[in-house]
Amino acid sequence: MTTSEGSDDGRQDIRDAVAKLCRDFPGEYWRALDRERAYPKAFVDRLTKEGFLSVLIPEEYGGSGLGLGAATAILEEIHRSGCNGAACHAQMYTMGAVLRHGSAEQKAQYLPKIASGELRLQAFGVTEPTSGTDTTRIRTFARREGDRYIVNGQKIWISRAEHSDLMLLLCRTAPREEGKKTSDGITVLLVDMREALKAGLTIRPIRTMINHATTELFFDNMSVPVGNRIGDEGRGFRYILDGMNAERILIAAECIGDGKFFIEHATEYAKTREVFGRPIGQNQGVQFPIARSWIEVAAAAEMVDKAARLFEAGQPCGTEANVAKLLASEASWRAADMCVQVHGGFGFAEEFDIERKFRETRLYQVAPISTNLILSHVATHVLDLPRSY
Ligand SMILES: Cc1cc2nc3c(=O)[nH]c(=O)nc-3n(C[C@H](O)[C@H](O)[C@H](O)COP(=O)(O)OP(=O)(O)OC[C@H]3O[C@@H](n4cnc5c(N)ncnc54)[C@H](O)[C@@H]3O)c2cc1C
Repeated sequence: MTTSEGSDDGRQDIRDAVAKLCRDFPGEYWRALDRERAYPKAFVDRLTKEGFLSVLIPEEYGGSGLGLGAATAILEEIHRSGCNGAACHAQMYTMGAVLRHGSAEQKAQYLPKIASGELRLQAFGVTEPTSGTDTTRIRTFARREGDRYIVNGQKIWISRAEHSDLMLLLCRTAPREEGKKTSDGITVLLVDMREALKAGLTIRPIRTMINHATTELFFDNMSVPVGNRIGDEGRGFRYILDGMNAERILIAAECIGDGKFFIEHATEYAKTREVFGRPIGQNQGVQFPIARSWIEVAAAAEMVDKAARLFEAGQPCGTEANVAKLLASEASWRAADMCVQVHGGFGFAEEFDIERKFRETRLYQVAPISTNLILSHVATHVLDLPRSY
């Protein structure tokens, strides 16, 4: 398993350092937060302080200038350790829009502070209640008034908005009907949440089946300086595509980590739990589902590595990023189900952390992109089948 043993990808030192950090945040820590739906601030602070969230930022801006593969190793190891990177993974990649499409001034102004953690760019505002996955139908509108945009609209499922200083916001600056392409007329703004919360922005938390700090946002004449626009007006859709590929690859790596967590826990339990006078793992009915999960996670990990390598090389990787996310999220979910089954009744006990991880890994078949939409991408973009929408 390329990413499982870690010895052949040259990143063992990163994995070891992450695993060491994670040992300070055991199951009790996550369980207590899960009960309260509280944010894992101490964990995020340590990752920030030790530089793990700034690995993708070039050295000239204060990061370590590593490739996406290093970031996948970090997130995979976090999840393998039973921790959860969802509280902070966006700090790694959301800045990519600024790095790749921002002006020299914007990069100098924001990237060093994002690298040090002084500024948290953790929120990425795309989804809206009425548009769902159909992003070109977003309605949040930024009207230009002199040197400012006045933003009105609503977003939903915007994670970490309460724990972020900045938000990358996707909005319309021209109606969909007016563009040559449906994606024309979409603009990216970097919103200073601290200013916006004083006037125009309301954040409403949504309680979910997992501890995810996700929210609903309301914009009521929220004022954003034109200088905070990333790239050209109306061309924003293409600016976020790279970031979406990075996000899918990194979340796939988290699923690989989850899968390994479940396989390792199931294997250990199957070796030690004795029923009918022998370890349950001696029964092939128990062994085989664990072995099958190992195979599925190993195969998905290969695709995650491939997608990350293409991304690092600056080559097109949309299909590979999507496929990696689909395979990894399904493999981790089946591993989760297997792990509950192997643990019998104890799979339901909070203190085993299996039920928490089971809930957490379910998300990734829905967000950041749902399985059907990936199948649709492969059907139409790879197989050239007719579009259904
Ligand atoms: C915990 C959580 C955190 C999130 N964080 C963020 C965030 O930080 N920022 C952000 O912008 N968004 C975020 N999201 C939103 C997430 O990206 C969306 O929920 C996801 O993309 C699916 O969109 P939707 O919920 O609108 O589903 P819909 O688009 O309403 O789709 C519902 C179902 O119908 C299926 N479907 C829809 N159209 C078709 C079709 N044409 N063919 C076949 N099937 C179809 C979908 O696959 C899905 O299963 C988050 C969501 C959750 C639950």
